[in-house]
Amino acid sequence: MLQFEFYNPVQIVFGEGQIAKLATLVPEKARVLVLYGGGSIKKNGTYTEVMDVLKNHSVAEFSGIEANPTYETMMKAVAQIKAEKIDFLLAVGGGSVIDGTKFAAAAAVYEGDPWEIFTTGGQYIKAALPLGAVLTLPATGSEMNNGSVITRSETKTKLPFMNRHVFPQFAVLDPTKTYSLPARQIANGAVDAFVHVVEQYLTYPANAPVQDRFAESLLQTLIEVGPQALATPHDYTVRSNLMWAATMALNGLIGAGVPQDWATHLLGHELTALYNIDHAQTLAIILPSMLNVRRAAKREKLLQYADRVWGIKEGSEDARIDAAIAKTRDFFEAMGVKTRMRDYGLEVSAINAVLEQLKAHGMVALGERGDVDLAISKLVLEGSY
Ligand code: NAP
Ligand code: FE
Repeated sequence: MLQFEFYNPVQIVFGEGQIAKLATLVPEKARVLVLYGGGSIKKNGTYTEVMDVLKNHSVAEFSGIEANPTYETMMKAVAQIKAEKIDFLLAVGGGSVIDGTKFAAAAAVYEGDPWEIFTTGGQYIKAALPLGAVLTLPATGSEMNNGSVITRSETKTKLPFMNRHVFPQFAVLDPTKTYSLPARQIANGAVDAFVHVVEQYLTYPANAPVQDRFAESLLQTLIEVGPQALATPHDYTVRSNLMWAATMALNGLIGAGVPQDWATHLLGHELTALYNIDHAQTLAIILPSMLNVRRAAKREKLLQYADRVWGIKEGSEDARIDAAIAKTRDFFEAMGVKTRMRDYGLEVSAINAVLEQLKAHGMVALGERGDVDLAISKLVLEGSY
């Protein structure tokens, strides 16, 4: 195992009806800003439930955070936070709302140009306003991690940052709040969580059987409950397990002591920024090709994945790896997420456009060994078309 530190201070409050606990989770004297997206929380009753519970708090609101939240929008939230002397942020929504809220929490007290947060990966953040989250979309793990991804629309730049000051203090996970999700978002969530696990598991062996088996259990659970969540949208057990699997997929636990890849995510971010393709859709496009192109470096773990996750035991090593990659693609497709660039109407010229952006953003040494250069990314993108 590699050396690691594991720190996760997020209090998880899980289950139907747990939004009621906001009454005490949110500090009594705080000036609270409730942040949300385009209105799904109003349609499914979450907004009313949250506001009712906070009726004895001082509450303001900020709405309109987009899917793939923009810097421009979140800077408006920062202005409101400063003008109204807000001192607690409550994100109510999916990964986009939580990511946007994390950025606002840091930017509101940042000395200097807040865009620097992204160009320096968040390393100079010294403080942030406290925040909490009510999750409505199981996918990103943002509710229990310290990462955030924001897009600057003027330059089509989508960049992540991480910092321990932006861990939510708490996250309320009520699986019934996911019942209103359209199939596309449930599918996206299962695929995003699946790829989070893969990026921390399909690397090179690190003699970490605990993390390996945590990862395999999450992958198997997602393969099992993903299709069930589409077939029976109001099944509490299915939604609970999907929700918890997605949270566990990216809360630091399975990534402790093991190499991490993230090349699929970083290529995917460019596709979202350029062509506005959903985050998980970009991952479904990139991952099968990424695994295929990098099969030599990932050989041992790909064989373990084929055996333990998909039960593939017959055939030559290459045949088993091919079969595991094909099963992965089939799983995404069965969830309704297309796995090729051309399925989303992109021209072949998109390959060069993404390569240009990768170069511009310094994404030239990606992956667990830093050996995914532009030549390898080109092969991956060509294989994704
Ligand atoms: P999202 O962008 O937060 O939400 C997608 C859509 O689902 C929105 O239109 C939203 O509508 C709707 N929605 C949310 N909850 C709903 C509900 N209960 N019922 C009906 N509709 C609902 O999706 P996401 O996949 O959670 O987040 C994606 C973002 O997270 C991307 O920017 C991605 O890069 C980022 N990400 C972050 C991390 C991390 O660790 N921080 C990891 C992976 C990805 P409304 O706007 O109307 O609410
Ligand atoms: Fe993701």
